[in-house]
Parts: sequence; structure tokens; C-alpha cells
Amino acid sequence: MRCDFCDMEAGKNMIHFKGKEICQQCALAITGFYRRGQGNKKEAYNGRNILLPQQLYDRISEYVIGQEDAKKTLCVAAYIHQLRIRGLVSENVGKSNILLLGPTGSGKTYMVNSLAKALGVPFVSISAASLTEAGYAGESVSGVIQRLYAAAGGEIEKAETGIVFIDEIDKLCVRGTNTKTVGVTGVQQELLTMLEGTEIDVDPQFMTIGIQTSGTQRMINTSKILFICGGAFPELENIVASRMDCGNRIGFGAHPEEKGERRDILSLVENEDLVQFGMIPELIGRLPVKCALSALSLEEMKKILCDCKGSVISQYQELFYACGVKLEVSEDAVGEMAKKAKSSKTGARALRSVAEETFHRLLFEIPGRSDIQKLIVTKEFVCGEDDVMVVKKMTAVSGV
Ligand code: ADP
Repeated sequence: MRCDFCDMEAGKNMIHFKGKEICQQCALAITGFYRRGQGNKKEAYNGRNILLPQQLYDRISEYVIGQEDAKKTLCVAAYIHQLRIRGLVSENVGKSNILLLGPTGSGKTYMVNSLAKALGVPFVSISAASLTEAGYAGESVSGVIQRLYAAAGGEIEKAETGIVFIDEIDKLCVRGTNTKTVGVTGVQQELLTMLEGTEIDVDPQFMTIGIQTSGTQRMINTSKILFICGGAFPELENIVASRMDCGNRIGFGAHPEEKGERRDILSLVENEDLVQFGMIPELIGRLPVKCALSALSLEEMKKILCDCKGSVISQYQELFYACGVKLEVSEDAVGEMAKKAKSSKTGARALRSVAEETFHRLLFEIPGRSDIQKLIVTKEFVCGEDDVMVVKKMTAVSGV
């Protein structure tokens, strides 16, 4: 029999396909063609697979506890960012760079980092306090883009779709006659140009070791990069409260922090308050989306300890598990650890040190103890009033 495709003699092993007799070689070629076709279609689909704000919110909520308003605001901005980098909206649609206002350790960096991971775009986080005006010793503003370029593995197009988080932006604000901070308003001016959209030289020679480079300079256009600035803005709430008091719109009698209204007040922040705080108006204008975060509550701290993906306690459980020991932390021990962390005033950042304090002795003693099956950490152990409860293999409960 002859193949209807290649017209070659193919013996008996013919395949019947859409009313034609085809030899095995042609059949393989055809199915390969179909698979490749489907593969391409899938890739093209993935390329257009834009994550909706709700999908992004669900993803980052697995890691980030609380801060509902900030999460929603960020997810909308990230959605628009996807539309922009895929070319689905024109340049007429203004860029939604964001200003996050919230106390240290409330999750500003963590939230932006989780979002960048969900989007699969390169991400860098730097402290504005480390930036210096061109000509001064320190990190230059354009160095931020160099870092983004490295995070994108040296791919210009990828770097141009990235996210830059500039923390401690409030450290660039100069109020009154403070002369200690010469050059910081210059940094604000340089940031302005970068946020607006400019071409910045990057040098492939400063890439991570191991990546082949040509050594010639290349340009990165910053107009599509999403910039998110964050800061604690201490005492900004007083500026907002006094403006509100003057306007007689809302009366805040006591000190705002005493009334636990810091976040509520920061959510009412207006550009004039930030100007009074020492931010240049042009920079404020380039950060049209403003969002306030609150200090984490005790309940939220507890959830961060044990109720989210990659929680602090789950990390220690994994460590003990690697030593063949099950780690259990009682509910009141979790509460005590959260209370200790909260009193340090550094937000969720303190949880890690409290956990380290709690578990480091155990991590020194337990590896190599083949007789231990389970450790039960109690509130008394966290307070240093009692020893950890140990369940030995095949034996009853006793001290370590
Ligand atoms: P900052 O607001 O100062 O940028 P970070 O985002 O760096 O604070 O928070 C420090 C650490 O605390 C994070 O790496 C994360 O582990 C934890 N953390 C802070 N806030 C949250 C939160 N809302 N949910 C979960 N973890 C958090």
C-alpha cells in the first residue's frame, strides 16, 4: 500500500487518518506538528494569562496576614501593571506608582515581594536612606535599576517589567531648618526622573558572576517599571490631625496614637500633609496611589507565627523534623511569643527574634538525641519559668 501523504510504499502498517491511509513516519510527523501547534497555543495563552486582582489577592493572602486595604490596593495596581507591560493599555493611562505608609514590620516589603513573586516579574527592594545624590559616596539612584537588571538575569526587556520597592522614603524628607541631611532633596529630584520614565544606563559587566556579558553599556527604559515607595512617616498623623482640627471637619481630641487611630488618620493623608512632612510636591505627584497600613494586632501576630504559609513556627517545625523530632507549640505559648514580640515595637520583625530566643537552646541540645519523639513548648517555657516538655520514644512525659 502507498501512503496518501508521501506516496511511498509502506506495506501493511498503515494508519487510517481522516479518510486517508498514512505511513507511520508521516503519522509521527503529523502528530508532532499537532503537538507543537498546541504547545505554541498554550504558551501564547500563558503569555496573555493576566492574573485578576482577586486572584492576586488570594495568592498574597496565603502569606500576608491582615492589611486588607493595602493588599487590595496593591493588587489593583499590579493588575494595571500587567496590562501595561503586555501592551494592553496605551501610555495615556497614567502609571499608578504607590506610596505605602505604615509602621516598621507591618509587612510593606513582604507584601510587595509576595506580589512580585505572584506576577513572576523581577523585584528589588532598597532603602532610600542608602541612596545618595550623584557625586556623593554611596548608592546612586541609577544603581537601583542596575540591581533590577541583575534581578532580571541581564534581560533588558524583563527588567523593564519589574517592580522596585523603595523603603524608608520618609528618611529623604527634610523638615524646617534641618541641615544634617544635605543632598537628600537632591535624591528626591533624581527619583522623580526615574519614576517619571527615563533611560538609564546599565553595565553588563556588573552583572552577577557567571552570566556572560558583552561589557558594553545598555539602556533600560523605566517608564513601565512599577515603583512602590514605603515609609513609617513618624508624626505624620499629627500633621494630618492638626489639619483636620483646623478645618473643623473631624475633631481629634487626644493624641492620635493614644486613641489607636494612627492608621485611620494616615488613611486621610493629603498631599499638603506630605509636603509639610518634607516631601517635594513633584515626587508626591508621581505617587498617585496612597495607602496606609496599620500596626499588626496581637491576633495577627499569632497568625503570622503559626497560621500562614511559611509561618515562623512551621519553619522551626521543619528544622526539628529534620532532627527526627516533632515540635508542638501550645496555644498559650504562641500567645506569649506574640505578646513579647508586640512589646518590642518593631512589628512582625520581632517574631523571628522571639522564636530564636525560644528555640535556640533546644536546637543546640536536641540534634543527636535519638530518644526524643516530641517536644511540647508551653507558655511557661517561653517565659523561662519551666523546662520544655519532652515525649521520649516509648516512654511517658518528662523534663528534658
Ligand atoms: P516593613 O513594613 O518594615 O517593610 P517587612 O515587610 O519587612 O516590614 O516585615 C518583616 C517580616 O515580618 C517579613 O519578612 C515577614 O516575615 C513578617 N511580616 C510582616 N508583616 C506581615 C504580615 N502582615 N503578614 C505576614 N508576615 C508579615
